[in-house]
Amino acid sequence: MTAFMSPRAAEPPRLPGSYKSFESRSTDWMADAACRHPSVDVRLFHSDSLARIAEAKAICVEFCPVRERCLEYALVRDEPDGVWGGLTPEARAAVKAARAGAVS
Ligand code: SF4
Repeated sequence: MTAFMSPRAAEPPRLPGSYKSFESRSTDWMADAACRHPSVDVRLFHSDSLARIAEAKAICVEFCPVRERCLEYALVRDEPDGVWGGLTPEARAAVKAARAGAVS
């Protein structure tokens, strides 16, 4: 009998503590996102205004129950723009660099 080979078998092995978990690829968590609340202007999360960016970050940190999953999702996808998980693209790059340094 031939063993079932999933497409994932071709992927490189995951490192311990890697943020590239299966869970972070799911989008179910988006249903609970604070930025999806009708009272929130989603444009805050993709603004060039520092004041609006700060407002978006505050919504993430203070009100969002899925912030950690959002951040992991953005890190896995290398989201180039916007506030995700309370972090700007620059802050996310710093997180990725720190994690890369921690496992090397
Ligand atoms: S963490 Fe921020 S950007 Fe992510 S889902 Fe929550 S409110 Fe939206």
